Formats: sequence, C-alpha cells, structure tokens
Amino acid sequence: MTDLLSLTPEELRIRIKEFGLPEYRAKQIQEWLTRGCRDFAQMSNLPKNLRETLAEEFTLTAPVLLRRQVSKEDGTEKFLWGLADGNSVETVFMRYHYGNSVCISSQVGCRQGCCFCASTIGGLVRNLTAGEMLDEVLFSEKEAGDRISNIVLMGIGEPLDNLDQVLRFLRLISHPDGRNIGLRHITLSTCGLPEGIDRLADENMPITLSLSLHAPEDALRSKLMPSNRGIDTVLDACRRYQEKTGRRISFEYSMIRDTNDSPAQAEALAAHARRIGAHVNLIPLNYVEERGLQPSSGSTIRAFQSILEQNGVTVTVRRRLGSDIDASCGQLRRKYTKAQ
Ligand code: SAH
Repeated sequence: MTDLLSLTPEELRIRIKEFGLPEYRAKQIQEWLTRGCRDFAQMSNLPKNLRETLAEEFTLTAPVLLRRQVSKEDGTEKFLWGLADGNSVETVFMRYHYGNSVCISSQVGCRQGCCFCASTIGGLVRNLTAGEMLDEVLFSEKEAGDRISNIVLMGIGEPLDNLDQVLRFLRLISHPDGRNIGLRHITLSTCGLPEGIDRLADENMPITLSLSLHAPEDALRSKLMPSNRGIDTVLDACRRYQEKTGRRISFEYSMIRDTNDSPAQAEALAAHARRIGAHVNLIPLNYVEERGLQPSSGSTIRAFQSILEQNGVTVTVRRRLGSDIDASCGQLRRKYTKAQ
C-alpha cells in the first residue's frame, strides 16, 4: 500500500492514469487532501468505485490531537499529535505581527545527542514521512483556526538526518496544487551535517538555512553537540550552500550561563559570522529539567549582543514565545511519554 499523503501531485496523476481514469480525478483528490479530508468515503465528488479503489490501494492517515497548550503570554499554541503507529510529535504555532509561523518536527526523537535538548533524550525512534510533516502544518492551521505564512523545521528531530522525506515535504507544501507555501518562507535548522548541507544545496531550493552553532570553538561545540564535525568543515559547507543558492545563512546560538556566553566567545562567534556573512539569532536557553543547564542572564545576553554588533554582525535576540507552555523542542512529548 502506498502512503497517499506523501505522493507528489505528479505521482498521483500517474497512479490515477494507471487506473484508466481521467487526470482531473487526481486534482479532485488533491483538493480533498489539501483541505484536510482524511477519509475516502467523504470525498463526495468521486464515484463510489473510485473511492473503493483508493481505499484498497492507498493508506491515508490523520494525526490525532493528544494535547494542546495555549500560552497566556503571547497566544503561542503547542500541539502534541498522535501518529497512526502510536508515536507522537509536537508542533508549535506562533503568532507574529507579520503573520503566523509554524514550527514542525521532522523525526520522532533525535539521535544527534545535543546535551541541552529534550528531543534527544530517548534517542531516535523513527523518521517522519513527508505526509506526516504536511499534516503537522495543515492540522495545526485547522486547530488554531488561522493560516500560516512561514514554516520553520525547528521542532523535534534533525531534518538533514531525514533528508529524502524532508525534500519530499518541501515539494508537497510548496506545490501550486497543494498548500502552495513559497520556499522562501521556509527555514530549515540543522545541527550541521556537512553532506546533508551539500545535498540540500544541490536541490537549489530557495529555503533559508539556519545553523545551530552554539559554540565558537570545537572543544566546547563537541561537548555540547556530539554530532560536531568541526566548525570549519560545517562553515565550508554553509559557504558552498550560499554560493549555490544565493541565500543567506543564519546561526542559532542558545545562550547557556557560564558556558558559551563570555565576551571572548562573542568575539570568536563574530569572526565566524563575518566569514560567511551570517546573521546571528541569540536564544536564551530554555530550561530543560533533565539537563540542568541554566540560561544566561538578560544583561549577559545584551553585552554579548553588543560585542557582535560592534564587530559588524547583525543580531536578533529571539523572544521566548510560549515559555510558559514548555514550547522548546521535545518537552511536551517527553512529559507525555513519561506519564504513560
Ligand atoms: N536538529 C535541528 C533542529 C531542532 S532544534 C537543529 O539542531 O538545528 C531547533 C533549535 O533549538 C536548535 O538550534 C537547537 O539547538 C535549539 N535548542 C534545543 N534545545 C534547546 C533549549 N533547551 N534551549 C534553547 N534552544 C534549544
């Protein structure tokens, strides 16, 4: 059985033609899928025998909402979705003045082992399919009752460790016959797997690439992020990505008290950012119970920011949206799984 949601509209057209049916049937099915219909029986403009054939040939799953948290501070919503095989993943829906944004997961769990992150605690369970990622977007919009204009692949998982399905998802979500979100409105965040960055560059998709750097020197980066393959190696891959796609890179830098927040580290980070013209996002660490690390203080973050700026680097300090609802990756799934 083929997973219907993960097929591109072109692939679906081919399958429909193989059934000896006219192409417009594929378009009708596509419309139902994009509207969030997950039951063949409800596809009322299709003949009954086609609906039966579809049910025999394809699987069609829908996520089930297990938990929903709404931030009282800023309206950020967080959804925990139950998948068809009993696993669960999180999606965060964020409201900004310029439009809404959704942060989606790309894997159930993660195997990169970053020592500050909740998603990696139980390791990798499995990759998400393109259709499951698509449904994170479509069903979050449905639940939130609002449309989104931006997507960030910054939830649970390492997108470059599931690149085939992620590329398929990018094609699906940006397809004119589907939800049609422009690739320029999509950001992919990675811990920095160089061969994944090169493969992504070869696809020449104009998405924004965000590198989770978190430390300006290799000894510390390898301690915080065991997947570190050498800062120079990763930055070389980022430079190639920029040359091929013409897109600017940004660095994510989560500020951890007395660990990566000294003035000397700000200078070293500035040198890396200047080298490839990267923008820097500073994020106060979200406290994760199991991890015990503390966020840097507001004044330390401001001092760190000014050093970067004095060195000609553009910096934003990310607002902590939804901090009252554990909105950083993996925490809701973690709590839910522990309680079962
Ligand atoms: N695997 C991808 C995307 C997932 S996490 C990556 O590594 O980029 C999205 C971002 O949140 C990453 O920059 C990640 O390092 C960061 N992050 C994870 N746990 C965090 C925490 N407790 N506080 C602040 N940032 C965190």
